[in-house]
Order: sequence, then structure tokens, then C-alpha cells
Amino acid sequence: MNPVFDLHCHSTASDGALTPTELIHRAGEQGVTTLSLTDHDTTAGLAEAQHSAKSVDIDLIPGIELSALWNHQCIHIVGLNINPQYPPLCKGIDELQSLRIERAEKIAGKLEKKKISGALEAVKRSVGKGMITRTHFAEFLLSHNHVSTLQEAFDRYLSRGKPAFVSTEWTATEDAVSWIRDSGGVAVLAHPLRYKLTASKMKRLLAEFKDMGGQGIEVVTGRSNPDEIRRSANYAKSFELSGSVGSDFHNPKNPWVELGRLAPLPSGINPVWELLAS
Ligand code: AMP
Ligand code: MN
Ligand code: MN
Ligand code: MN
Repeated sequence: MNPVFDLHCHSTASDGALTPTELIHRAGEQGVTTLSLTDHDTTAGLAEAQHSAKSVDIDLIPGIELSALWNHQCIHIVGLNINPQYPPLCKGIDELQSLRIERAEKIAGKLEKKKISGALEAVKRSVGKGMITRTHFAEFLLSHNHVSTLQEAFDRYLSRGKPAFVSTEWTATEDAVSWIRDSGGVAVLAHPLRYKLTASKMKRLLAEFKDMGGQGIEVVTGRSNPDEIRRSANYAKSFELSGSVGSDFHNPKNPWVELGRLAPLPSGINPVWELLAS
């Protein structure tokens, strides 16, 4: 069987629509052979995913996607092959969870000012024990007809500069990288082109990320076009970072992103999975 990697996706433990078990089954149907579940700031879905992966014969890499601050901006660091029991990582996750709850209260307060009430209760109900994300607020705004698409919820309310945006003191990038590395994992810069950094800032980020112990960069993501893959691959080469591939799958209703449906890594890029000790 050809190996098929997908090293970035989400379950109901954060803002994914599928439970870890449903996600694993879908990954199996799509021919994925190695999957990493990388929920936002939580490892709560990993035990169930690990259990289901055995019956589907998928190699599950324990992962996480940490929200981090670099140069006053939120960036995402994917941790692959982490140890979810590593105490500093667990403590960091607890802090991020509290930050997310505080932020959710503030977002709901800002929505109240726009005469949109009941968001916090609705979001808490839909999340259950999972991590509250802006996706949950977007879904609330959509289901209550305040917007007609999820994208519109971000564009009108939730994105930076919009009325319900709340800037948050996420983990320092250095700490996020250390928690991952020291737990035995590999730190990967997620979707590098989504931060809209100038070329010089991107180079600064990559140089600093590498100095901190970062080892990988996502070269292929679910919606990358050939030009984006080329640009990300060039960053990987220039900074001697391994390349990762991950769909960032959240929801089967999104027709553009599917588990395991990813372009191959360009030649000359060291695959990040070679760093993952089995
Ligand atoms: P948070 O980490 O709570 O700020 O939520 C970030 C999540 O919101 C991302 O992981 C995406 O899943 C989703 N998201 C962010 N921006 C957009 C957007 N413009 N359109 C749709 N989803 C978005
Ligand atoms: Mn998300
Ligand atoms: Mn992300
Ligand atoms: Mn993600």
C-alpha cells in the first residue's frame, strides 16, 4: 500500500465537525495511512483517535496545533509526535484553555454590543468539553442568520479589526516550540502563507523559529496552489526545514478540503515524517 500522509486535521475536541472516531474512519476511507490529529490547543481527542486507529490500521501520530504569538501576531505551531502527558505541555494547554474561555466571554460581550445576544451560552453548549474557537462563534452567527456564510462571519465580525475581534496573549512562540520539542515532538510552522507577512518578516520568523528548535514547515496544505507550494518549498530549502503535508481538514461540508487529498512534496524537500521516531 502506498503511504499517504496527512499531518494536520481537527476533530470535535476543537473546531472539527467529526469526532475522533469519525475522523479516523473517514481518513481510512480516503486511503490515508499516517494521520496526525492536531486539534487547537488540546490533546483531548488523541486517546479516542488512537483507539480507533488500531481498528482501521492507520498510523496515528499524536499531534496538536498550538496558538502562539510572534511579533504581536498569532501564528500556529503544529507539534507532531508529542507526548500528551509531558507536564509542561499539559500546563501550557491548561493556560491556553483559560485564555480561550476568557476570550470567548469577551467576544460574546462585543457581540452583545452589536445587539447579538446568547452567543456564549450557545457556543458553550455546542463545544461541550472541547476548546472554544472562533469557528464556533462563526457557526452560531450563521445558524442565527446574522450572516449567510462562515466566511462572512469572519469578515464582518471575527477577524482582526472587526467588531468582535479580541486580541489575545497566546503562548510565546519560543515556549510553544519548547513544549513540543521537550516532550519528544517535532515543531512545524503551520500554513506559513496565511499570516500575510512581508518576505522580510517571513524570513525573520523562519530564522527565529529555527533558532528556537523548529524543524519543519508546512509546504503542502489543503488548499495550496502550485505557486504557493513552490514558495513554501523555497522557504523550506533556504532555512533547511523539513516539509510537512497537512490538509487542515475541519468539516466534510467543505468541498475544497479532504483528508489525505494533498499534492506531493516537491523533490529536494526532506519529508518531516523522516524525523518522526516510530
Ligand atoms: P481561533 O484559534 O479560535 O482564533 O480560531 C481559528 C480558527 O478559525 C481557524 O483554525 C480556522 O479553522 C477558523 N478560521 C479563521 N479564519 C477563518 C476564515 N477567514 N474563514 C473561515 N474560518 C476561519
Ligand atoms: Mn480551526
Ligand atoms: Mn491553523
Ligand atoms: Mn488547523
